[in-house]
Amino acid sequence: MGARERQATEEHATEEHRKTQTRQGTNLPCSSVSFFVYFCVFLCVLLWPLFLLTFLLSPWSVHAAVQTRPQPATAPEMPRVRLIATGGTISNKVGGRLTAAELVTLVPDVTRWAKPETEQFANQSSSELTLDQWLALSKRINALLDDDRGLAGIVVTSGTDTLEELAYFLDLSVRSDRPVVVVGSMRNPSTLGYEGAANLQEAFRVAATPVARGRGVLVVLNDEINAAREVTKTDALRLNTFQSRGYGILGVVDADRVVFYRDVVKRHSIKSELDLTTVSALPRVDIVMVYQGAPGDLIKAAVDRGAKGIVMAAAGAGATSGTQDEGIAYATGKGVFVVITTRTGSGRIAARLRTPGAPGATASSRRSEYQIAGEDLAPLKARILLMLALTKTQDPTDIQRMFIEY
Ligand code: ASP
Repeated sequence: MGARERQATEEHATEEHRKTQTRQGTNLPCSSVSFFVYFCVFLCVLLWPLFLLTFLLSPWSVHAAVQTRPQPATAPEMPRVRLIATGGTISNKVGGRLTAAELVTLVPDVTRWAKPETEQFANQSSSELTLDQWLALSKRINALLDDDRGLAGIVVTSGTDTLEELAYFLDLSVRSDRPVVVVGSMRNPSTLGYEGAANLQEAFRVAATPVARGRGVLVVLNDEINAAREVTKTDALRLNTFQSRGYGILGVVDADRVVFYRDVVKRHSIKSELDLTTVSALPRVDIVMVYQGAPGDLIKAAVDRGAKGIVMAAAGAGATSGTQDEGIAYATGKGVFVVITTRTGSGRIAARLRTPGAPGATASSRRSEYQIAGEDLAPLKARILLMLALTKTQDPTDIQRMFIEY
């Protein structure tokens, strides 16, 4: 091979090598390029649904992020509770009685449980309140609860002397299932150990809790919740004076929560038929005590002075004394209702045979239809029920039914 041919052969070899290099090296060989292209296409096909999904879900993600982001702190809406003050030892400060607004300032932490509102109805001792004031108070509470559906409950301050009477009157005549709590104190605000602020705080807590709904009017003092129907003041001075003899408390107000243990099954509040809307005055009903040799002319005097009902605080299971049977006969003969209760403090007076002349009828069983068995109601409570019942009916059967149902 000549020099020229050798050079041509080498040039050809170099060109072949360059082409091979171009395919395999510098610009990648053909098979690697294809693999890369296929891989990219594969990735796109595989991943585009994921991209799409991410895009579609992004609004929810943003929403969720906003939701979980800490929100600016706003105070929870507290139940509104209205304090209606009527007076009593709880506000009887030396130098001047405290107003409803001043009472609330004694309980600065009340806002932990309730948003308080205040209203001054009266500012006097409980025994000074008139029946007309009771009537006005009941109407006011009914109107408030009717007009203000967002009101959680009502606290009524009262002197303790006749607190149990006012509480039962409201229990029968306030027709709502929202709590109405009656509260007082045994020590006045100027006395060491004044317990009024603590009682008031507990009354607000009970009035604010939905747990207290539908339980009638409640009396709250000394950490205890009593039913208006059952509670009575048992001691002239002691702090634990309010007791429900024979039945016990309904519940307690403890540091952590308000606890109820039982209900009153008798009719009250929302289940009461005793509507005072159109009543302008309560009828006179007196209480006459039975004691040894008691004269019947006191009963006659009450009737002659306009009493429409007499409640006998009888001995034991309904016994009368002296000439009281004559007085009772005088009253019932004039269509005045006589309700027999017991002065013992507990127990029940059952309805007796009322069939004059029936075989075996004795003097005590020959009773007028106007003589009503007071069941287990204390004389004070029986008087309240009879007053209210007489605003609705004069029918002895109806009145006796009420004493069984309420
Ligand atoms: N005298 C007061 C009253 O009943 C007694 C009291 O509040 O405890 O108004």
